[in-house]
Amino acid sequence: MHEMAIAQNIIEIAEEYAVKSAALKVNEIELDIGKLAGIELESLLFAIDVIKEGTICNSAKMIINHVEAQFNCTECLSTFNTENYYAKCPVCNSHKVEIIAGREMRVKSIDIN
Ligand SMILES: [Zn+2]
Repeated sequence: MHEMAIAQNIIEIAEEYAVKSAALKVNEIELDIGKLAGIELESLLFAIDVIKEGTICNSAKMIINHVEAQFNCTECLSTFNTENYYAKCPVCNSHKVEIIAGREMRVKSIDIN
């Protein structure tokens, strides 16, 4: 399950940050998750719950920001939002589009005490 590996990574980042900052506990972990990141949120949150047990992140609240998928057409340069991975440009119908947002999975901020 790849959510388990991602959860592990998130908790490691938060722990490392907390240790570096000599924190007593982690209050909040804020994540940016793109709609095209291929992450199943339920599984991710479950995995985080399991992994944070017994760590400094034990009581940390998870805040999730969903990032809309955004594409850019390389033909006519318009940008548009869609959740369709194989999108085509709504303006010129070109398939020459690139994803400019929506695949991210990152720790945005960590709130510590
Ligand atoms: Zn276009």
